[in-house]
Amino acid sequence: MIELKTCTLCDKPLPKDNFRKQKNGKEGLNARCIPCHDKKRKESRERTFEKRRRYAKKYRQDNKEQIEEYRKEYSKKYYQENKRKVKAKVAEYAKNNPEKIKAYKKQEHVKRKKRELDRRYKEKNRQGILTKGKIQRDKPENKKKHKEYSRDWARKKRKDPLFAMKHRLRANLHKTLSKGGYKKKSKTEEVLGCTFEHLTAILKLEDIMSHHIDHIIPLSWAKSEKEALALSHYSNLQLLLPIDNLTKGNRDVSGCDIIRVISNHPTPEVLIHVVNKSKNVN
Ligand SMILES: [Zn+2]
Repeated sequence: MIELKTCTLCDKPLPKDNFRKQKNGKEGLNARCIPCHDKKRKESRERTFEKRRRYAKKYRQDNKEQIEEYRKEYSKKYYQENKRKVKAKVAEYAKNNPEKIKAYKKQEHVKRKKRELDRRYKEKNRQGILTKGKIQRDKPENKKKHKEYSRDWARKKRKDPLFAMKHRLRANLHKTLSKGGYKKKSKTEEVLGCTFEHLTAILKLEDIMSHHIDHIIPLSWAKSEKEALALSHYSNLQLLLPIDNLTKGNRDVSGCDIIRVISNHPTPEVLIHVVNKSKNVN
């Protein structure tokens, strides 16, 4: 005689192998038979489908950047670990979809061409473009607006030293990076490695206003964007009186200062590389 168990949903007494195992269930079994259990689960999933879809959508929207970063990181890793497989897949896809590949290549070619033309146009008409901006600004209807805008800006800078410092650091970073032919893509605070507030706590705001912000290891030593960014970290900043900064050549950097900067820097190896390449250390 086989022992039977009654399903709580359909009320049928059934042999025990008609029930799934469940650790905390009576006799270690699910209370519902397998078909009933699956039916219930399916119903519940259908009932909550909309809700789950909405939730997932919201989650994706709220975490767009993290997801994108994760995706990039993951595909990079996957590619590194499965190079041969990925290459074979791509080759196979290209073989099976010659039309698509042709269209893609053409599209890329057009894009490249357009970029190149844009670049050439800008180069050729640089002065013209600048004058155009100036003409716009000097138009009577814009003149007043521009004046108000710059006055507000100046007032804000006077009244809010933190704002002024943020602006100076940002402009400073932009200038030094673009001088080396690099672009400023990262946020200033990210490059500094600390918040503006933290920086003012170290450098003292009133001093910042009367001094120049100086790079202890000169930015001109950087030979790449990575190095320029590393040298912009807050551990490499100090305040100098304007006169000191203007007379300070790249030559007078003391080894002591360099060691201090390197020991406080998140990527010391980059700085060591920069310093080793330079012969201007005392
Ligand atoms: Zn049942």
